[in-house]
Amino acid sequence: MENSNKISIIIPSYNEEQLIRNTSEVVSEIMNQNNIPFEILFVDDGSKDGTWKQILSLSKDNSNIHGIHFSRNFGKESAIYAGMQYAKGDCCVVMDCDLQHPPIKIVEMYRLWEQGYEVVEAVKEDRGEESGIHRFMANLFYKIISKLTDIDMMNASDFKLLDRKVMLVLLNMKERNSFFRALSSWVGFKTIQVPFRVAEREAGESKWSTKALVKYAILNITSFSSAPMQIVTICGFIMLIISFVFGINSIIQYVTGKALGGFTTVILLQLFSSSIIMICLGIIGYYIAQIYEEIKGRPKFIVSEKC
Ligand code: UDP
Ligand code: MG
Repeated sequence: MENSNKISIIIPSYNEEQLIRNTSEVVSEIMNQNNIPFEILFVDDGSKDGTWKQILSLSKDNSNIHGIHFSRNFGKESAIYAGMQYAKGDCCVVMDCDLQHPPIKIVEMYRLWEQGYEVVEAVKEDRGEESGIHRFMANLFYKIISKLTDIDMMNASDFKLLDRKVMLVLLNMKERNSFFRALSSWVGFKTIQVPFRVAEREAGESKWSTKALVKYAILNITSFSSAPMQIVTICGFIMLIISFVFGINSIIQYVTGKALGGFTTVILLQLFSSSIIMICLGIIGYYIAQIYEEIKGRPKFIVSEKC
């Protein structure tokens, strides 16, 4: 069969006008040198700069460079899914536009795919340059996610090669808030890991604000587990035991005629229980909001242009 070994290189790009051309040249050169049939699929995640113009002009000159343009910024996860949907290759690899995922690794990953592996995961050897708090929060997030998914996610990244079969499974999932990094491991298949060193960003700066990262973490934890909701039940039980003890105590005080002294306890209990109730309501509300999001069944992304 012709073209039965083409790889689609999916590159989510958000405000990366400085990098598009260089990235596509570097990747193309590596693929050509190694005789790997490929297409590059830039997914412009609603960039506000000249990213789409760059992609358009590249795709005019190169028949194996394609692009999709979102109608607005939908986030990297959506960009990855759009990439998989429009990819024509027999396997795909997702990589960052900033070359922090070294493209030379794709060759190694591709060879493993040729040997029959269906998921090739590139795992971080180190986490590159990150500030103290960021590192701490990221570690905490990955610890929680690893526990929830039963997969070691400490060094996971989005830099993965997937066989067409796996792409189709992921695309057919009805989930709207899908966490690519975890789901692509969760689906199983014949998997192998290769280590890679996170490179420095080529140009520009990280497109993630702290706020966006926190939002991303909470969303992914709750989409993988309802454990936070169970915490509510546990808190409820603990509160019940405490109130039992305090209840007996105040009855004894009442019987012995010392009832007035207990005001402090009442106030403390009042404050404590109402704060717990508020937290619980918040968590439940969050899940309801998620159910609401899922039930609306809105598309993960909207493509406004193609090339
Ligand atoms: N990205 C995207 N949409 C976004 C944010 C980022 O498609 O809303 C892309 C970005 O262009 C890059 C990749 O995701 O190709 C990784 O982003 P970045 O380098 O900013 O993240 P970091 O490496 O700091 O985690
Ligand atoms: Mg980066």
